[in-house]
Parts: sequence; structure tokens; C-alpha cells
Amino acid sequence: MDKIESIAEATFTLEHFRRQPPRVLDSNAWLERQSQRESSARSYPRRIPLALVEAHGLYVRDSQGQFFMDCLGGAGTLALGHNHSVAVAAMRQTLDSGLPLHTLDLTTPVKEAFVDELFDCLPPAFASQARVQFCGPTGADAIEAALKLAKIATGRKGVFTFSGGYHGMTHGALSLMGNLGPKNLPGSLMADVQVLPYPYDYRCPFGLGGEAGIDAGLSHIEQLLSDPESGVLPPAALVVEVIQGEGGVIPAPARWLQGLRRLTREHGVVLVIDEVQTGFARTGDLFAFEHAGIEPDVLVLSKALGGGLPLSVIVYREALDQWKPGAHAGTFRGNQMAMAAGTATLRYLRQEGLAAHARAMGQRLMAHLSELQGQYRCIGQVRGRGLMVGVEIVAPPTLGKKAPAADGALAKAIQQQCLREGVILELGGRHGAVVRFLPPLIIQPAEIDVLVEKFQRALSSAVQVESRSA
Ligand code: PLP
Repeated sequence: MDKIESIAEATFTLEHFRRQPPRVLDSNAWLERQSQRESSARSYPRRIPLALVEAHGLYVRDSQGQFFMDCLGGAGTLALGHNHSVAVAAMRQTLDSGLPLHTLDLTTPVKEAFVDELFDCLPPAFASQARVQFCGPTGADAIEAALKLAKIATGRKGVFTFSGGYHGMTHGALSLMGNLGPKNLPGSLMADVQVLPYPYDYRCPFGLGGEAGIDAGLSHIEQLLSDPESGVLPPAALVVEVIQGEGGVIPAPARWLQGLRRLTREHGVVLVIDEVQTGFARTGDLFAFEHAGIEPDVLVLSKALGGGLPLSVIVYREALDQWKPGAHAGTFRGNQMAMAAGTATLRYLRQEGLAAHARAMGQRLMAHLSELQGQYRCIGQVRGRGLMVGVEIVAPPTLGKKAPAADGALAKAIQQQCLREGVILELGGRHGAVVRFLPPLIIQPAEIDVLVEKFQRALSSAVQVESRSA
């Protein structure tokens, strides 16, 4: 059995749903009750108004009996898709073992195995001098831990972050965010945050693009760090995503990342790489930073880490381990089920070579989407790496402007048409104009082809509706 077949064998396919009688329930009533009882801050149900009753692999079924290709995958969490047999078996075994399920941060055989597996995933040189801290269990809490760790180790208070960045919704993490919507709160966020331009080549913040844009970005940071009149105190940390996810699937060029590594090292700044979304084979490498041949000082991990259950950690260079006992605590840092599911998932990812599979599937998806770009003017750019792919939807070009304006309204219409076609996709980026694909890493070539057919039909319908109403 070759690799692809063995991945397919472990994948739950549509056949499963065809064998199951559909459960038809009144989803409108559920959605109505949800809107009456849940907070105004709820987010996904507004754009994806589904009541889900069943899921496996790439597919979910809603209460009306319709199935969907889920390319949101718990916002990139579900590396193996829904209810993968490997993760489920690990959870079941833990339940049946009689081990404590909640242990704060006390150790157990499950935790021991998880740390072994995690360290085996890391580049050996980094792992050999690394410490791990179990966090909240969310990505945002791990970011909070990274900020504290860096501030304590350097004795500095500032943090550098990037436009378009997303690191979570707690006050510290929010202060690093690019998107002004959630950030626009009464009262102050964390002070001493310097927001820097990210190398978004399609809309270069310096108006240069290409190699010149990379040089301008790096020299701007170098100037802030080395000019005694820059007005900015040397920061404790620089926090960066190797590929901005929520910010609109923007991969940073390797040379820019290498430049960040050099500058942070030269100026004693802790390089925090946030791989909450990109981590564990999503981008075609086990970690996205490997593509640039660099290593972080602090690596922030969550999402796929817990095999679909909540778990987050920071892994960092031992020399930074200067905080005191209890400096970052929290009740739910000992989720044994998540550690068991995470261990099984990480092991499976590596055994099955899912990084290479994600790379190949991502190339297939991007090739199809690039063909569509030739046919549809509204596709401004197709970008990404591995199975983290974005399509930027744009308005007609304006004379004198380098890149056409983002068209968030059309992107939203495409997302809604995709739902009708049975595809769940999320939007991101400026004005919500980037349609994002985050399918599970087990997706098969034929499924990629079907996905793109459905996407094309949705795109055509949305464009037709738009042109009729223009
Ligand atoms: N960092 C990145 C890169 C993310 O994409 C996210 C969430 O999408 C977070 C941090 C925050 O994670 P959480 O939502 O678990 O707090």
C-alpha cells in the first residue's frame, strides 16, 4: 500500500454518509435559538449558519441532511479532519485506562509520551536546548506566556508586531493584532507595541514590491533597532507569523525571515514565531519556519497540537527560562485527552509523510485556482503554501493604481454561494476579501478537483449576481 492509499484508507469518505440515513431536523429552529441565547460577539454562525450533526474526515453533515466539504476545519485545527480513527482511538484508550483526566500540570505517562513526541517533531538542534511550558489551552494564552517569558528574560517591555498579524483575542494578544475592528475598544490595550509593515507583496506597504520591498522592510526594522534617535526603545520580543493566516494568507519571503532572525539576534530581541495555525505539516513542512532555514527563540503552538482538542504550549530556548515558579499558571493545562489525541496525531503526521502530501495537494489546489485566475478578473492573486491557500478577490482595476481594490462584498457572496454548493470556506485579510482554504491534510487529489469545481460554480454564480445588480 503506498502512502496516498494508506492515508485514503484512514480517511472517512463520502461513502460513509451515503450509508447513513440522513437526520433531518429543523436547523432553522436551532439557529434561531442560538441567535437568541448566545452572545452578540458570536462570529462564525453569522457567516456559516449551519447546525451540524455529523462529521468525519473532510466532510460534515448538517441537520437538514446536506453534506459539506469542510475547508475551515476548526480554523485550521483539524489536521486529520473530523473524528479521525487515530485520534479517536487514542482518546478512547485514555478514557478506558483509568488515568486521571485532569492533572493541572502534574505529570502522567500520557504527558510524558506527548512531550517525547513533540520534541521529536522539532528540529533536533532546537529540541536539544528547549523547554516546554503548557499554557491556557488556547493560542492566545500561549502568546501571553511568550510575551511574559521574553519580558522577564530581557528586562525590556516593548514588543514588535506586524500589520495584518493575528495572535488571539486576550488583551496582550489583541494589542499585537493588525485588524482594527476587534482592537477598537474603549480603554487601553498593552502599551509599548510597535506595529511594523509585513511583506505583503501584492500590496507592498512601501509601494515597491519584490526584492526592493523586502529590503525596505528590513532596513526599516534595522533603523528602529539601531538608531539612537529612532524614538523606539529596544523591544523584548518580535512576534511574527511565517504565513499570516487570518491576515489573508500572506507568506513571508524566506529572505525577509532570515533578515528578521539576523536582526533579532544582533539586537538581543527574542524572536517569537507564532505557528498556532501553520504548525504541524499545514504548509508542507512540519513547521513553516523550516522553509526559511531559521529557528525561533520561542515557538508558539496550538490548534493541530491537541489532535482536535484544546491544547497549547510554548517551546523555547533554555537560556530564556528565567521566570519564577507560577509565572504562567492556569487550571486547564493538563488536558490528558488532548495530549493523547495530540501524540497520536503528530505521530501519524510524521509516519504518513503528511507534510509532503500537504505540499503536493496544495500545489494541485493552487494550480487549479491559478487557472481560474486566468478566467475570472475578480481573482487578484492566488497565494499560500501547502494546504493554507488564499484567493484575493478584487474590484476592477483603477487607472494609476498598482493593485485593484479588495472586494470584500464579492468575497462574501462567493462564500455564501460556496455554502450552497456544499463547501465551507472562511474569509480573511483586509476587508474580508481573501477566500481561505484550510482543508484537512488528508484530502485526496480527486477531492481537490471536486472542491475546485464547486468553487468555480460558486464563483460564477456570485459574479453573475453581481453583474446583474450592477
Ligand atoms: N495565533 C495565530 C496565528 C492564530 O491563527 C490564532 C487563531 O486563529 C491564534 C494565535 C489564537 O488562537 P486561539 O484562538 O486558540 O486563542
